[in-house]
Amino acid sequence: SYQSNHAAGFGSFSSGGKIPLGLKRKGLRIVVTGGAGFVGSHLVDRLIGRGDSVIVVDNFFTGRKENLMHHFGNPRFELIRHDVVEPILLEVDQIYHLACPASPVHYKFNPVKTIISFCTNVVGTLNMLGLAKRVGARFLLTSTSEVYGDPLQHPQVETYWGNVNPIGVRSCYDEGKRTAETLTMDYHRGAGVEVTYNIGRLFKDLLENGVRIARIFNTYGPRMCIDDGRVVSNFVAQALRKEPLTVYGDGKQTRSFQYVSDLKADGFVHFICKVEGLMRLMEGEHVGPFNLGNPGEFTMLELAQVVQETIDPNAKIEYRPNTEDDPHKRKPDITRAKELLGWEPKVSLRKGLPLMVSDFRQRIFGDHNEDSA
Ligand code: NAD
Ligand code: UDP
Ligand code: UDP
Repeated sequence: SYQSNHAAGFGSFSSGGKIPLGLKRKGLRIVVTGGAGFVGSHLVDRLIGRGDSVIVVDNFFTGRKENLMHHFGNPRFELIRHDVVEPILLEVDQIYHLACPASPVHYKFNPVKTIISFCTNVVGTLNMLGLAKRVGARFLLTSTSEVYGDPLQHPQVETYWGNVNPIGVRSCYDEGKRTAETLTMDYHRGAGVEVTYNIGRLFKDLLENGVRIARIFNTYGPRMCIDDGRVVSNFVAQALRKEPLTVYGDGKQTRSFQYVSDLKADGFVHFICKVEGLMRLMEGEHVGPFNLGNPGEFTMLELAQVVQETIDPNAKIEYRPNTEDDPHKRKPDITRAKELLGWEPKVSLRKGLPLMVSDFRQRIFGDHNEDSA
């Protein structure tokens, strides 16, 4: 029945552009939902850079056109303003599904935004899986370390089921992503989202493993939303603006921070580490889920200290009450990604932070007026 699904799917399309993975990369048509955002735009850079055609689907809820403007005019690039909660018809080979209101100020404490977050994660993911099923595209979900909740196992291994409060202020995000993972696996098992290519029956052994799940841990870097309330962007913007660094609670809670890209010695952002993890996962043969994160673990006070050392040793620290249900610690076990994807992060916090700082400095003070809105 998997095959008849696909036969039906292919019947409605012209054959152009279906190319087997690994044989020839150029010519893949790839959708990146949420491609105008922080992680998505770095991914788009890499996909365009290697010669693929990319369609970004984004409703600009938190994303910005500025993150993609350097691709405007490229015939291999297309930007569609669209909310993934609505169905969409496209012909593509791969779907990277990133669209999601991902930062705390966008989903906590605001009932309307909360519903948007849950709805995007559930209905948006369902639509993208429906699309993947119809056209036989490979589908990758960017899930999150938040599926582990306030973890009782440390570090977190993919086999850990997590400790999530179903009725708390973060639940819309945590449970939304957990449901997105559920849908992805249900489609994988039942509905037959698979890889196949319309060049005869030669590659029907690629029929299995049509979905991929990445669990991304806290990530920072250039193009991060400046005022999105995440801790790294908050501390960096605060230090640059000579405001005190706001530490929530006692500052002893931990996170493990991953830089969005790796770089060459000349300072040119060349090798997108995190994004590389997503691409390896998409191209590889394993469904996952895979933890993608940097195992270097820091308390928020230690993070504040690194920010002080990097930007302003005189920056003050101001304690604020912590938010509800804040996970006490978080650190990825990345054994699986190392072994099966041959991937591990390369940039330490002390090396990565200055690269983000120069981007933030330019956006906050620079002559580019892109953040004036
Ligand atoms: P981001 O907010 O910068 O990007 C998300 C993008 O999705 C934005 O461009 C936004 O406009 C778009 N979007 C939101 N709702 C949409 C909708 N209904 N329809 C179409 N587009 C929509 O966030 P990011 O940090 O780049 O995160 C990207 C993905 O990675 C998300 O799925 C997020 O959950 C996941 N993730 C990120 C981190 C992190 O630390 N950055 C950690 C774990 C998981
Ligand atoms: N969908 C979409 N684009 C497509 C195919 C499906 O947006 O190319 C949506 C469709 O509207 C539906 C969802 O994906 O809401 C799930 O589709 P599926 O075919 O799996 O389920 P069904 O429509 O049979 O309930
Ligand atoms: N945090 C903080 N100061 C801030 C913002 C966040 O101390 O200005 C803390 C927050 O309480 C949490 C950690 O930093 O313990 C990471 O928060 P973030 O929202 O960046 O990511 P998440 O909680 O989703 O991992």
